Amino acid sequence: DPVLRLDRICKAYNVGLPSETKVLHDIDLTLKRGEFLALMGPSGSGKSTLLNIIGLLDRPTSGHLFIKGQDTALLNDAALTRLRGHTIGFVFQDHHLISAFTAVENVLMPLLVDREFAGPDIVVKANALMARVGLAKVADNRAMNMSGGQQQRVAIARALAMSPDLLLADEPTGNLDTQSAGGVFDLMREVNRESGTTILMVTHNLDLAKRCDRIVDVVDGRITA
Ligand code: ADP
Ligand code: ADP
Repeated sequence: DPVLRLDRICKAYNVGLPSETKVLHDIDLTLKRGEFLALMGPSGSGKSTLLNIIGLLDRPTSGHLFIKGQDTALLNDAALTRLRGHTIGFVFQDHHLISAFTAVENVLMPLLVDREFAGPDIVVKANALMARVGLAKVADNRAMNMSGGQQQRVAIARALAMSPDLLLADEPTGNLDTQSAGGVFDLMREVNRESGTTILMVTHNLDLAKRCDRIVDVVDGRITA
């Protein structure tokens, strides 16, 4: 089964109200295991809405979303939350780290929250992740004292803590200068190649998008290319 399959996904906001707006129209999309896909499109075209649905944070109005062959429409909210925690990692434009915590403490957070799934030796695991993203030497620095590029690397390490099948990245390099953006992208590409993590990245950066396996364009809630 593919990691992700969208079958005629539609999304409307304010359903039944005069302000009802259809935002996504019949989205079909399949992500194979190990694929690195760039999602592009103008502001307001529905990318965040689509990412929220794929990330199991919001439900479609109609259509089906399959994660590793499982139809998520059949799951209740508790089961969705569990599936999300065990299969999907998130990276945002802003790092969303806890500033007063150290880098490695931030990476420990998801492991502490789900001890049963995380297994033993979570400190060892968190430190291995810090090494994985090239930050072993600054693992004990507070997040607030790190550069934007370093913070985003910590955010990636945290997203990888539960060994997700799918990493969703919403403009992960949007707040970074060209050089740091390139470094953060290189790290994601490396994680994708070495660990086989499937990645879906929203980006406005065509140079980076071209270095992904595939580019999908969303315009007015439809996939156009
Ligand atoms: P993008 O991420 O491509 O900028 P969005 O998914 O954020 O696009 O938005 C797509 C459209 O849906 C926009 O017209 C936006 O105003 C609308 N929209 C997004 N979220 C909501 C919401 N919670 N309620 C109503 N309309 C929304
Ligand atoms: P972006 O363009 O970076 O995707 P937006 O500024 O469009 O972000 O949206 C930011 C947040 O506001 C999102 O969570 C989106 O769902 C929400 N939002 C966008 N448009 C609307 C709207 N018309 N009504 C309510 N919420 C909205």
